[in-house]
Amino acid sequence: SEVMRLENVWKIYRVGDVETRALKGVSFSVCKGDLTAIMGPSGSGKSTLLNMLGLLDKPTSGRIIIEGRDVTGLSSNEIADIRNRKIGFVFQQFNLINRLTVLENIELPLIPRGIPRNIRVRRVIEALKMAGGDESWLPKKPNQLSGGQQQRVAIARAIVGEPEVILADEPTGNLDRSSARLVMDTFLRLNDAGLTIIIVTHDPEIANCTKKIVVLRDGVIKSIEEPRSEKCIL
Ligand code: ADP
Ligand code: ADP
Repeated sequence: SEVMRLENVWKIYRVGDVETRALKGVSFSVCKGDLTAIMGPSGSGKSTLLNMLGLLDKPTSGRIIIEGRDVTGLSSNEIADIRNRKIGFVFQQFNLINRLTVLENIELPLIPRGIPRNIRVRRVIEALKMAGGDESWLPKKPNQLSGGQQQRVAIARAIVGEPEVILADEPTGNLDRSSARLVMDTFLRLNDAGLTIIIVTHDPEIANCTKKIVVLRDGVIKSIEEPRSEKCIL
């Protein structure tokens, strides 16, 4: 079943007199259980596509449909509400808050929902375990952990609110090989558990462990390819 789709989405950035056509009529469907890599050269529109799927920015034209509902015309508040309930984000730079503990970072998405503290803590621990982390990290600050451990904390934060979709922008771009593999292994387990995951990546080793590779070039989808799963070595 379909979770979200882009219909003929154009995104044109205007900076002064300069116009960049970052997406040129992209249509793209995300279905429940997908584990998809988005690849393509630098500047081909990958981050922009992810920003559209994540409702972080509005298309210049075209429609974004979430669970059958056109969200393109909704107010910023309504869009933020859908984003907070349906979408979890993972970034290349982890984007954890270093003055907060690991526990406080992971529970952030639960605070606006008014969930009592004891239940928040229980859900944080569940999410951290699902993300391949360890309870002993909870009182630490993120910068006391390795990069790979920080990314697993970030994944826990992304899943703690039980989103429909995880959107990850170069999640292994700052990690060494073995940490990258651990993070990808975490995504594979979460996908097995039913989570839908879209990963922007330059790394063929990561892409080969997904179920579908979407290749962007110059703002259009150039091809949709089968990963070479025999090359997935996790
Ligand atoms: P990728 O993620 O594949 O590297 P991006 O989506 O980041 O591609 O960028 C696509 C094109 O849009 C590039 O030419 C980039 O410079 C331009 N672009 C992206 N974001 C902005 C922005 N906020 N303002 C102006 N131009 C942008
Ligand atoms: P990525 O590694 O994800 O492709 P980029 O370096 O392309 O990262 O972009 C990082 C951020 O900067 C994105 O949020 C993108 O929208 C923004 N950006 C990219 N190109 C430009 C640009 N030419 N002008 C302004 N912002 C840009």
